[in-house]
Amino acid sequence: MADWKNPPRLFIPGPVKVDEDVLQQLARPTLGHRGKEYSQLHGETVDMLKKILFTGQNVFLSTSSASGIWEAAIRNCVGLDEVVLCTCCGAFSDKWADVARSCGRNVEELRVDWGLATTAEMIDEKLASGKYAAVTLVYNETSTGLTNPVYQISEMMKQKYPDVLVFVDAVSAMVGLPLHFDDLGWDVTFASVQKAFAIPPGFAVAAVSNRALEKSKNVPGRGYYFDFQQFAKAAAKSQTPTTPSIPHVVALNFQCKKLLTEGMENVWQRHKEMGDYVRVWAKGHFDIFCEEKYASNTLTTVKNTQGVNVAEIISAVQKKHNTIFGNGYGKLKEQTFRVAHMGDITLDDLKELLTWIEEELS
Ligand SMILES: *Cc1c(COP(=O)(O)O)cnc(C)c1O
Repeated sequence: MADWKNPPRLFIPGPVKVDEDVLQQLARPTLGHRGKEYSQLHGETVDMLKKILFTGQNVFLSTSSASGIWEAAIRNCVGLDEVVLCTCCGAFSDKWADVARSCGRNVEELRVDWGLATTAEMIDEKLASGKYAAVTLVYNETSTGLTNPVYQISEMMKQKYPDVLVFVDAVSAMVGLPLHFDDLGWDVTFASVQKAFAIPPGFAVAAVSNRALEKSKNVPGRGYYFDFQQFAKAAAKSQTPTTPSIPHVVALNFQCKKLLTEGMENVWQRHKEMGDYVRVWAKGHFDIFCEEKYASNTLTTVKNTQGVNVAEIISAVQKKHNTIFGNGYGKLKEQTFRVAHMGDITLDDLKELLTWIEEELS
């Protein structure tokens, strides 16, 4: 059983550290989800999220983890006779392709080796065939610690393929990395709150374009729980289709206020400073797993060039300092390890953690 008086400090790339004042928000008395107070809370939260995501379009609140929205994007916006191009550059982007297939859709993959980015040129080459209705992208691949050049990709798509829908998993990017939803011309993007929003897991945020919402009307078999039409109908009343996790909405409202007070440019800059710091450290002791110009500002996947026993170091740091960082994900286990630097993690937190890792190296 966990020691609740002395909880572990988390540097895994989700769930990340949650500050005490955020935890307090989750402990507030509950509201009725069809009452005026909830609608006010919901409406205010959505308005703030629109500012955070730079959108005048739809923002939906989902009581699910982000994986639910992987499925929602596909089931709502890809017809059974259409083909979706799934770009694959690591464990999470691979998984989304699996999810699309399990929704019975026609999937084609555009694969690069883990650690490489998916570029605008690669996508352009595939889309030139004219056979794809939509593309899936992962903004920030949490397995390889890589940020795809989504701004360049989106610019190319807007110019050459304006009719192809763009779905972007921004789970470990949203808040930590720039995201101008309307300017980018995206159709669906989403994140769960246990990443850079720094809230306990169990809730997700999605932005959906007006054209994606319009298209979904005519896509059969959308199901119920993740039906965008149901979300839109409820959103018109500042509600959700089913009973939401109200404590999460309260915490999200609290975090959004903090983010807007700080200013998104400053929030992104803060993440960049943490990323720069961890990258310098990583290169001093090991190396960065992915190509450095694509290295993420929300987490670093460190390449284990020293051949150290990662699991042993993680367990030693946990034992001595009650602090946990991440082993490599999936097939990158032991070949890499991962340090999150997102949300309410600070540079001081990171300095402490990295010193402790160093102590285990010597
Ligand atoms: C964590 C993560 C997910 C999965 O999110 P859940 O909230 O566990 O569903 C998906 N994609 C990326 C890039 C992630 O980092």
